[in-house]
Amino acid sequence: MKPLLRYQGDFQWEGVPVGPYKAEGTHFRGVTRQTLLGPDAGLRCELRYFEIEPNGHSTLERHDHAHAVVIFRGAGRVLVGAEIFDVRPFDLVRIGPQTWHQFRSAPGAPLGFFCLVDCARDRPVQPTRAELGALRTDSQIAAFIRT
Ligand code: MN
Repeated sequence: MKPLLRYQGDFQWEGVPVGPYKAEGTHFRGVTRQTLLGPDAGLRCELRYFEIEPNGHSTLERHDHAHAVVIFRGAGRVLVGAEIFDVRPFDLVRIGPQTWHQFRSAPGAPLGFFCLVDCARDRPVQPTRAELGALRTDSQIAAFIRT
């Protein structure tokens, strides 16, 4: 394990591949992943850098594990539970267990963020049709979410 992952500019780190956000699916748009600290780092958490291209979005999901997200680049909005927040660099977003969440980049800007997560974690789940219906009873959430 290298002691230093040199930042090489352009929101990339030396020797760290820019990979897909998730293996497959149409429930997200324009998202890449870089794993900065993986399970081999000797920690109980992983640190990833995600980037959402302009007008993209992450998956609308929830799970038992929590996320701590530090915005690093660009602009966007995030749904956490029943609230939607504008986010900008250096904001910290805390997502608790079983809390619906989705990140969207701004139409004209990417959204890049670090995400800290447990190494041992459950799989994310997407809303059922009934759960989507319940989420959409809030008009702001209905207008925000992408599935
Ligand atoms: Mn998540």
